[in-house]
Amino acid sequence: MTTANDQITGKVVIITGASSGLGEATARRLSERGAKLVLAARREDRLVKLTEELKANGGEAIWQTTDVTDRKQVEALAKIAKDTFGRIDVLVNNAGLMPLAPLDALKVDEWDQMVDVNIKGVMYGIAAVLPIMREQHSGHVINLSSVAGHKVFPGAAVYCATKYAVRALSEGLRMEAGDEIRSTNISPGAIATELTSTITDPTAAEAAEELYKVAIDADAVARAIVYAIEQPHDVDINEIILRPTAQEL
Ligand code: NDP
Repeated sequence: MTTANDQITGKVVIITGASSGLGEATARRLSERGAKLVLAARREDRLVKLTEELKANGGEAIWQTTDVTDRKQVEALAKIAKDTFGRIDVLVNNAGLMPLAPLDALKVDEWDQMVDVNIKGVMYGIAAVLPIMREQHSGHVINLSSVAGHKVFPGAAVYCATKYAVRALSEGLRMEAGDEIRSTNISPGAIATELTSTITDPTAAEAAEELYKVAIDADAVARAIVYAIEQPHDVDINEIILRPTAQEL
């Protein structure tokens, strides 16, 4: 009989946004479970440090600096994963940012950035791995949406729009994927990471500070991702919503 642990050992997993927060915590969890990791983000120093830490603990990992808004770089990321480890079992489409602000503040550059990273980055990830997964007749795409992909918060319209889009992509992929590729949408509430540091609007920063008073550790999301991956191939965990117990919204 196959044990749950066998579903992770040896799997090749690409994680975008692996230089901090949820991506970093997920890398640690998956590495201790025997996954072969390909870590991506823009900050090379962080990727190098994490890779060294995982290897020192007996893990197998490589890193590739990647800006997910550049399709060529995301293609290169998938290529290095395939060239190094021979296959791609899981893509954790996690890179994202959350510069919250009311629409009236007209932070249009930040809107563009959120669309480019949170939506287009996720689409480029899918585009880069889908043909490879089709060829393998197996694969798993895990997208990071949010509670903000299920309900709209004032002051967060554009961020919510991007996270609704991510949820739509996860569901669309699930429906089109057939019986060989799994699609998981993860929707966390407030998790203590660097995410709120991208907020430049003072009112939004204050509101986020209040909401994030109850934030829980990134490892909570890492454990949810592990749970989705470790299911047998015929079980597709499509949607996980997790919040701090103390989060009201
Ligand atoms: P962090 O800010 O800690 O991490 C974000 C990661 O995304 C970093 O590793 C950053 O790396 C990477 N990133 C940002 N822009 C790019 C880019 N252009 N190309 C490649 N990587 C990029 O936040 P979280 O860990 O919290 O966020 C991870 C995901 O989880 C996001 O999609 C976020 O929306 C989602 N989420 C988070 C919640 C929370 O409360 N923390 C709640 C719900 C969802 P680098 O700067 O080195 O490129």
